[in-house]
Amino acid sequence: MQVMQSWGRLRADLHVVQRLAELPRAWPAGELPALAFGNGRSYGDVALNPGGRLLHTRGLDRFMAFDAHTGVIECEAGVLLDDIIGVALPRGWFLPVTPGTRFVTVGGAIANDVHGKTHRRAGTRGHHVLGLELLRSDGERITCSPQQRPDWFAATVGGLGLTGLILTARLQLVRVASEWMHGESRAFSSLAEFFALSADMERREDYVVSWIDCIHGHGDARGILFAASHAADAAPPPVATPPRRVPFTPPVSLVNALSLRAFNAAYFHRHARKQGPLRQHLLPFFYPLDSLLSWNRIYGPRGFHQYQCVLPRREERAATAELLSAIRASGQGSFLAVLKTFGERPGVGLLSFPLPGTTLALDFPHHGPSTLALFDRLDAIVRQAGGRLYAAKDGRQSREMFEAGYPRHAEFSTFRDPQLSSAMSRRIFGT
Ligand SMILES: Cc1cc2nc3c(=O)[nH]c(=O)nc-3n(C[C@H](O)[C@H](O)[C@H](O)COP(=O)(O)OP(=O)(O)OC[C@H]3O[C@@H](n4cnc5c(N)ncnc54)[C@H](O)[C@@H]3O)c2cc1C
Repeated sequence: MQVMQSWGRLRADLHVVQRLAELPRAWPAGELPALAFGNGRSYGDVALNPGGRLLHTRGLDRFMAFDAHTGVIECEAGVLLDDIIGVALPRGWFLPVTPGTRFVTVGGAIANDVHGKTHRRAGTRGHHVLGLELLRSDGERITCSPQQRPDWFAATVGGLGLTGLILTARLQLVRVASEWMHGESRAFSSLAEFFALSADMERREDYVVSWIDCIHGHGDARGILFAASHAADAAPPPVATPPRRVPFTPPVSLVNALSLRAFNAAYFHRHARKQGPLRQHLLPFFYPLDSLLSWNRIYGPRGFHQYQCVLPRREERAATAELLSAIRASGQGSFLAVLKTFGERPGVGLLSFPLPGTTLALDFPHHGPSTLALFDRLDAIVRQAGGRLYAAKDGRQSREMFEAGYPRHAEFSTFRDPQLSSAMSRRIFGT
């Protein structure tokens, strides 16, 4: 038995960990219910199975094929997005959709159907999966794609690891002219300005994301919007600087009301002063947090939550303002607060998270009941607006909240593998 944690470090549960070093020919033997574990970058309990087995997939790290003419890559599920970038970028290819860290596995990215800063143009990870192979606990191997057994594909993309073990996947990459990004950064001082600026920038640039100051203003928000596209730039990549690491867990969270206020004011004014043209290498543009390894330790031994919701277009303005008012009134929050809009493209998976509208994601140090009470208030606003929470970040939403947000949950349940279970599945499905 071994303690395994997710990125939020909110709990420390014992698991039987089975490390897979090669593609299994048969279902890995064991009595206890199992769950695949990728690289543990989900924040809550979607990748945890306390008292059960975790099938650790990082050893499944082989590439099977890469066609540098078509940008189609085939690999095992434990390959990291970082590994794909390492192989593909020097040959002029990049990931069409990437989350804010490159240290996630292909299997984990598919199981949460992750999104990036370009939903409006490129959809989610699942829109670029050409096919995958799934191993069920009864030994059946299911090869599925948008064309072949599409029902299994729709259940497995965004399927929270509950339909089987993803063994391999075939992915379409996107051509990029260089490793550089060109665009613009702009300060905004209200939500109305944010929505106007986003609409304008999304017409002009491929990637758009905003940082917001969650404690400033009354239900309004100031922030900085970053928008960019791949540049046709012949400049060589910069000399890579090795990432730094937070060396230990401090005894208390370094994020508190005082440090938050000071950091947010300094960050806003620094970026507002230098707003304008943006030119950056793509790694710091897409993955600013990856330059500080183990940054999740700064929240101290009690860990932290990320609250991420999406609000449908019709309600997005009023509900975002309401959420920000509630957060500000609580005095909680952190400097990691992101606002993005999603486009109209329908999700691939039965449980895919994005909806046409706006997504808000904020980190919160765990202060116990006061933090959980705030989340209940936020849930009520999200539910009233017809929104939903993102499973990759969640470790606490109720079954009622989940069912209200994901109307296809009953259909999804028919694809579940009876031997697979997680802390999250027991909470939101009852098994
Ligand atoms: C700094 C940071 C930034 C992030 N930014 C974003 C973002 O912008 N957008 C976004 O969408 N997400 C984002 N995330 C969340 C992250 O992309 C997802 O949680 C992702 O799924 C983590 O992948 P993982 O390999 O670590 O999987 P884990 O967290 O280990 O597992 C996630 C799920 O995948 C399942 N799984 C893993 N491997 C397999 C397999 N082989 N077969 C079947 N199921 C499997 C697990 O059972 C679990 O349900 C961010 C996370 C961090 C830490």
